[in-house]
Amino acid sequence: MSFAEIAVDAPVGYDRTFTYSVPKGLDVRPGHFVRVPFGSRRMQGIVISLFEHTQITETRDVLGFVFEDEVLNETSLALAQWISEYYMCSRFEAAAAMLPPGGRTRPRTHYVFKEGQEATGVEGMTFLQTRIVSYLNTHGRISEDKLVQLFGIAAGVSAKALVRRGLLDRQYGSLEPTVRKLIRKFVSVPAESASRGCQMVSLLEPRAPKQASLLRSLLDRRSPILLAAANKEFGSSAVNKLVERGLIHKTEKSVDRDPLQGKIFPPVLSFDLTDAQAMAASSIREAMDSSESEPKFFLLNGVTGSGKTEVYLDATEHCLAVGKRVIVMVPEIALTHQTIERFAVRFPGKVAILHSGLSQGQRFDQWWRTKRGEYSIVIGSRSAIFAPQPNLGLIVMDEEHEWTYKQHDVDPRYHARDVMRKLAAITGATVIAGSATPDVCSYSTVISGRSHLLSLPKRVGNAVSDPSVSGLAAVSIVDMRRELREGNRLIFSRTLMKKMRDTLDSGEQMILFLNRRGSAAYLQCRNCGLGLRCRRCDVGLTFHHGPPRLICHWCGERRRPPAKCPRCTSGRLSYYGIGTQAVVDEVINHFPMAKVLRWDRDSTKSRGMDEDILERFRTRQAQVLVGTQMIAKGLHFPSVTLVGVIMADLGLNAPDYRAGERTFQTLCQVSGRAGRGLGKGDVIVQTYQPDNYAIRSAASQDYGFFYPQEIAFRREQNNPPFSRLIRLLYSHTSREIAESVAFRWSAKIKLERDGWGFSNVEIMG
Ligand code: ADP
Ligand code: ZN
Ligand code: ZN
Repeated sequence: MSFAEIAVDAPVGYDRTFTYSVPKGLDVRPGHFVRVPFGSRRMQGIVISLFEHTQITETRDVLGFVFEDEVLNETSLALAQWISEYYMCSRFEAAAAMLPPGGRTRPRTHYVFKEGQEATGVEGMTFLQTRIVSYLNTHGRISEDKLVQLFGIAAGVSAKALVRRGLLDRQYGSLEPTVRKLIRKFVSVPAESASRGCQMVSLLEPRAPKQASLLRSLLDRRSPILLAAANKEFGSSAVNKLVERGLIHKTEKSVDRDPLQGKIFPPVLSFDLTDAQAMAASSIREAMDSSESEPKFFLLNGVTGSGKTEVYLDATEHCLAVGKRVIVMVPEIALTHQTIERFAVRFPGKVAILHSGLSQGQRFDQWWRTKRGEYSIVIGSRSAIFAPQPNLGLIVMDEEHEWTYKQHDVDPRYHARDVMRKLAAITGATVIAGSATPDVCSYSTVISGRSHLLSLPKRVGNAVSDPSVSGLAAVSIVDMRRELREGNRLIFSRTLMKKMRDTLDSGEQMILFLNRRGSAAYLQCRNCGLGLRCRRCDVGLTFHHGPPRLICHWCGERRRPPAKCPRCTSGRLSYYGIGTQAVVDEVINHFPMAKVLRWDRDSTKSRGMDEDILERFRTRQAQVLVGTQMIAKGLHFPSVTLVGVIMADLGLNAPDYRAGERTFQTLCQVSGRAGRGLGKGDVIVQTYQPDNYAIRSAASQDYGFFYPQEIAFRREQNNPPFSRLIRLLYSHTSREIAESVAFRWSAKIKLERDGWGFSNVEIMG
């Protein structure tokens, strides 16, 4: 007898697994994806380990496989264990991120009348039970969800009672995967009939021209044709006649749904690496060749256009040369194709793509082919870190500071950067994290010696001819307080207005950028630029309407907005919550002839919209693109010569301790959009806080100026990397219940903390 420890797809504690017995003849191994009984249901589970004996007296049998092959290997199982512990989610939930697409199914359970039972009910039913029975009389069956939705939470108990009394039965949905291999029918000429076929073509020609032409095209192509296509072009009777004559036959074949299939990429010129690139590349090659088993982390710091991608490509080449495989992560699906293209051109046929923008079928095929080792390189968004890439030698994370690498809405709430570090530690893979503006916490690992810094200080291309310039666009800061003092109340400064007019006149393109995330409004002094912050947490206070209140989203402090600026005592405090549409309106107002596109979360809800808007801008169907931080990321627009940052303060006053860092990063990237082509670029940053360190260092794209100040603030406030933050979130449809549970937990944690004497643990909220 053997037993299996299984993580079950049930809402259980994060380290909870269950013991099952393995029936004879079922070759269960760790990493297998199986079906198990759980309470009165059946569920999916992942086999964590096997053993010979158990203390548990009664165990139930594993029912069978969802997939015959083990879906998780030792590495994935170890990684899943770490994720479930670190992010406090169930073991299954953690492992589910690594399952084949469409593999996880949560079938619905239905209640029906037991066979042979009268649909009238049984003696002594409660009111609720009568209602359930009468519903079943008209509808035949009801799902568990529907039951609760219609009759309330108590209905579940009532229905179960009816099952016990033999009136109702449970019907369980299938646990089979929702995606499968795609099997298609083909017609082809069998090898042995090829020569006969050639003679037959001319014989058939006069009497049966359709048969003749189908046969001819099959012989010419020497490869099968889709049955459906043959039927459509030549008619099904021609197809069937040829089959009867034994000249062709029908076959079935599984078809690979490859997202890159049929895509032709223009060839690119190859060039020699610059000195800086060559230095970075050789450090990475050396690390990959070294036999030391400790993980090798590289932080590749270079401004946009400095040639980081070339370094990734070089490292990839080396990794493949030593027989290992690669995972490459990019922050946004909408931006992936530029990177994919460069990898696909350099390594044709070796690139798999995994991200949520693909169809389920494509993801399914890419996943399994990757698992079988058919792709040396996997490129995708954050979830690509879970790709079943065997023999991993290199992990690349482009734009490593991007917040999209954090999954914050569903379990597991992982940060791909931390998962990457863990995965590298398990596999010994080399890591390259690239960014123009590294995450402050990542950079601190360089200072503490846990990562190696590689720098690409200059742009390639326009910088090559004159090494004294960095090749970056000219950034000017406009003081909006002064605009106001001198009578301009518009959202565009006079400088920006003039530049916009020049750009439109000369037929070039511009991006107007709103440094905004979410919809938080805040209070700011229009005279001295002070944004109101929490005295305790030093984050921006959020302005709430109704009875006007300023609220700290960190510690929960609320107060009435002051009538006067606490710094300069002016009465010019205004709240801000400007949106992209307002900017679009304002552009059209001043330049009625300009073609304007808007790009933000609202305008790109449906799949493909991103591509569409970007393509229209790229093909110059519009001159002005208005957007939020999404446009800041890695886009290549050579014809953009002007970037206007409407209100840099929007980001600075965000209720987040990372507000300064985010603003710096976003402004740097936005500035990187301009002047990528031959034309000189202009960047105008409008702000009420022109002396702010984040804005000033962004203007000069100077990480060396930014980092020491930012890290000093972090130390002062005891924020990461000097501390760790844990967010415990409890949600409920009832505000009262959510509040009371949250309070209870906070009291409980305080008690624990005091009991253990952890005086440095602070509990907020
Ligand atoms: P990043 O990834 O840092 O934004 P890229 O790798 O995309 O930079 O490089 C920017 C541009 O410079 C690309 O068009 C690339 O083809 C080109 N480039 C990169 N390295 C070189 C080089 N050594 N010589 C000439 N052109 C280069
Ligand atoms: Zn003021
Ligand atoms: Zn606070």
